[in-house]
Amino acid sequence: MRHVIIGNGIAGISVAETIRKNRRDDEIVMLSDEPGLPYWRASLTKYILDIIPMTKMTVKPPDWLDRLSIKQRVGKALHVLADQGQVIYSEGNHEKVLEFDRLCIATGAVPVQLDIPGCELPEVISFRTLNDAEIIKSRLTALKRIVVVGGGVLGMEVVDVAVSRGIDCTVLQRGDKLGVPLVDEQGAEILLKRVNGEDGIHKKGAEVVFDDAPIEYINENGQLKAVKLASGAVIDCDLVVVCIGIATKSELFNQSGLVFDRGLKVDEHQESSVPGIYGAGDCVVYPDESGQVVPTRTWVTSRIQGKTAGFNMCDIPCLLFDEGPMYNASLMFDLLYTIVGEFNVTGDPYSSFAQQTDEFSYRKIIFKKDRIVGAMMLGDRNGDQAIRRLIAQKVEIPAETDKKALLDPEFDPNDLAQHGVEYIMY
Ligand SMILES: Cc1cc2nc3c(=O)[nH]c(=O)nc-3n(C[C@H](O)[C@H](O)[C@H](O)COP(=O)(O)OP(=O)(O)OC[C@H]3O[C@@H](n4cnc5c(N)ncnc54)[C@H](O)[C@@H]3O)c2cc1C
Repeated sequence: MRHVIIGNGIAGISVAETIRKNRRDDEIVMLSDEPGLPYWRASLTKYILDIIPMTKMTVKPPDWLDRLSIKQRVGKALHVLADQGQVIYSEGNHEKVLEFDRLCIATGAVPVQLDIPGCELPEVISFRTLNDAEIIKSRLTALKRIVVVGGGVLGMEVVDVAVSRGIDCTVLQRGDKLGVPLVDEQGAEILLKRVNGEDGIHKKGAEVVFDDAPIEYINENGQLKAVKLASGAVIDCDLVVVCIGIATKSELFNQSGLVFDRGLKVDEHQESSVPGIYGAGDCVVYPDESGQVVPTRTWVTSRIQGKTAGFNMCDIPCLLFDEGPMYNASLMFDLLYTIVGEFNVTGDPYSSFAQQTDEFSYRKIIFKKDRIVGAMMLGDRNGDQAIRRLIAQKVEIPAETDKKALLDPEFDPNDLAQHGVEYIMY
């Protein structure tokens, strides 16, 4: 059997690894337009800041492809001909055909761009690839001001780079909150204080401009000089990093027979509308626990989706939810955060309990009726794995005092034994 995987990010390599573990003799071909070994995309900021050297940025050792007998093709997939079992791809100036028995599409997502005058300038970039990181890294010492468009989690990574290196930085954010939708209103306030240097910790923070957006990137002799905003303000700068979200390109799916709805639509087995064709990672949308079709776009989920697809491609039935509820833990600027399960749902039948334990620590637990379904933690994440397991076990917690007790970072889940917790946690 020949398995073709398009994309060599964490989703794609998880598919390949799972197939190889379960099918020693099947053929695996991995096609990607990013040459080289898969790298830790989520650690690009640490690479820029010299916390992780290039030698430690690859997810797999140099001989990984050979050891797993994975054939690599460097090229761009152009069309998927589902009914003919073919992928058409470009390699240099040539169009080539790759036949498959099973296919997994793991092409990730691309940054959304602002199509305004000057957007083609080399100093206007996104932050997604190693190449973007190299551009930022190579210019760090010469930069005077970075303008970051977008105050979400990715924008906060660029702000972290600027603040860590003492570079002036302006963040432009639509609306009046930073860090949304990962944090709620109270979390956004904590984050703002941290970012703009009112925290008494950072000597210099970033300037945050709410409710304004670029309308032009101004150049002088072909080099970026400033950003003009809708309000008429002009901000001098020598680098713009646009972090306003990511999207899955639809071109690959046009006329493929595959259902596309903001992403490749897959089921709990990661299988698309066409049998034998799977999808994993940032490029897919899938039904969450409540049946809504959503993109997930986190590192861990991409890995789990890749493994799930890999098992099913080997005819070993595996459901996405087998590995538990969505979990994502990282840094927002320099604050730890964790989100688990349904972390930002509101309205009937949901309710939540929140608590700010100190100036920079805040947590919120979300219930669907009496069942714990989600959590958001900022500043500290003690007990997050216990909360995750309670969510996975669909524990019902009827008493308000017990619900509130979960907000204590030191809470002991064994106290909930009478509510059906099936294990002792140490
Ligand atoms: C700076 C940064 C920080 C992040 N931090 C975190 C974090 O802290 N926590 C977290 O959970 N997530 C984080 N993420 C998100 C996380 O990295 C992604 O969710 C994850 O990498 C997605 O993996 P993927 O394999 O689906 O896609 P990708 O890693 O994007 O891989 C897809 C690959 O497919 C290739 N490709 C695309 N189209 C084609 C085509 N037509 N033909 C051939 N090849 C193609 C792409 O070039 C790419 O190499 C971060 C992302 C960035 C950019």
